[in-house]
Amino acid sequence: MSIAETLVQNLRHLAQRTGLARASSYRLFDIELKQRIPLSPSLARFVFTGPEVARMCTMAPDQRVKLLFPSADGLPPQLPHEGDWLKTRRALEAEHRPPMRTYTIRALRREALEVDVDFVLHGETGPASTWATHARPGDRLQMVAPDGEFPGTPGGYEWRPPEGIRHVLLIGDETALPAIAGILEELAIWPDRPNAQAFIEVPHETDRLELRCAPEAQVNWLPRDSGGWRHGQGMIRAAKELATLPEARQQPGKPQKIKEVDIDTQILWDLARPADNGFYAWVAGESAAVMAIRRHWVGELGMDRRALSFMGYWRLGRALD
Ligand SMILES: Cc1cc2nc3c(=O)[nH]c(=O)nc-3n(C[C@H](O)[C@H](O)[C@H](O)COP(=O)(O)OP(=O)(O)OC[C@H]3O[C@@H](n4cnc5c(N)ncnc54)[C@H](O)[C@@H]3O)c2cc1C
Repeated sequence: MSIAETLVQNLRHLAQRTGLARASSYRLFDIELKQRIPLSPSLARFVFTGPEVARMCTMAPDQRVKLLFPSADGLPPQLPHEGDWLKTRRALEAEHRPPMRTYTIRALRREALEVDVDFVLHGETGPASTWATHARPGDRLQMVAPDGEFPGTPGGYEWRPPEGIRHVLLIGDETALPAIAGILEELAIWPDRPNAQAFIEVPHETDRLELRCAPEAQVNWLPRDSGGWRHGQGMIRAAKELATLPEARQQPGKPQKIKEVDIDTQILWDLARPADNGFYAWVAGESAAVMAIRRHWVGELGMDRRALSFMGYWRLGRALD
């Protein structure tokens, strides 16, 4: 067991003895929209604030949070902070139940009480995007985010490259862009930078953003409008034709049987458990595209699945509450 793991275990024991074990790693935060910053035709940054943001924490560039949106009755979410908020939410009648969706913390500035979330604006098709389309400063939401006072690591992130990683491959669509942008920023300040290749599918040519990354990082934009692609086709093309897959090319593996996931009823979440530091891939976006990439790399090319993380962030034609 590493020193860090021992420390975490000791803290857990201490927490159990002192009754803190009941504390949850995530907690409810009341937040208010402070500023809305357009990033591109399809993306906007929302800067939220709230007195308790000072207590929030984030562990990795793909730290996920839950956002609670106004319910069908038009009221902003106001789940109580005491007790089990999830249970309370479940018990509410549909009309009064705040819809909940998953987002990524793009940046957290605790001293300034500010937390940024980048939203894809995909029209008035779901409660999150509908809210984002019309949101104005002062609008109130609730966020379920890691609690900085939790004794231990809160989890809720999957970017866990092995130490000394030499080649990182990132593939995602616009919903994964906030996490990929954060990962590239993080890699840029590592002393021993790995080769980093990123492929980002976005709706429009004009959705390309200026990302802060190491000068040698390869960032490839895959706009659906110029490619004439449907959702996910750019990501799949990147995985099959454009990405450098050192392991698969140098030592083609045996095609492996993969457990198919019914992406219309289940979340595709298949995570890496790296066995060495040669290659690490992080893939997130529309579930059918992520599934197709998993099938190709693992099922057909026989790549070592322990180096690959596949995350279905959303499903075309389905709402994921
Ligand atoms: C770990 C994680 C992190 C995420 N981080 C972010 C993030 O930082 N920013 C972000 O914008 N999204 C992010 N997402 C994706 C986001 O949760 C989904 O897009 C969510 O479905 C949006 O909710 P909604 O209420 O707008 O639409 P829903 O009610 O869920 O769906 C309504 C309809 O809209 C469609 N739809 C949903 N999302 C999209 C989309 N992006 N483009 C086109 N059609 C869509 C659905 O297929 C459905 O037909 C993340 C998801 C996960 C799991």
